[in-house]
Amino acid sequence: MSECVDPVVGKILAGWRYDISGLVPEMRGAYEEHFALCEHCRSRQTIHRTIDVSLIILASLSAGVFLLAFGVILHFEPRHAFWLEIAALAGFALSALLWLAVAVATPAPATMVDVARIGARRVHDRLPAEIREKLPEELRMKLTGS
Ligand SMILES: [Zn+2]
Repeated sequence: MSECVDPVVGKILAGWRYDISGLVPEMRGAYEEHFALCEHCRSRQTIHRTIDVSLIILASLSAGVFLLAFGVILHFEPRHAFWLEIAALAGFALSALLWLAVAVATPAPATMVDVARIGARRVHDRLPAEIREKLPEELRMKLTGS
């Protein structure tokens, strides 16, 4: 793997888990420039954002499975149903808590919004011109950024 072009900046970025979304725009410029120049930090940033998004997806899946388990227990009423229900609800609560922690502590929500926006822009660009014209001006501005 390639080396960081400026280890001092690279160390700072590593400390932030390569997340500069919380910085004010004036401070962000220098770091964005570093990302543009530095292959090493760019790939690390991608890895960290992938981990964040994977965690939030895993937490969502886990919460869903616990809810499903709760529903199944409620429906079939096995022996010890009460304790199984408690366990399922506890699992759901823990998953929801993890989801919240990931959403607050990492830029995963912003990353997912960005991915969604890029996807929406791709769909928008493929639409026939007459349908594109019918979209509200406000929505078109959000999608294309112009
Ligand atoms: Zn670097």
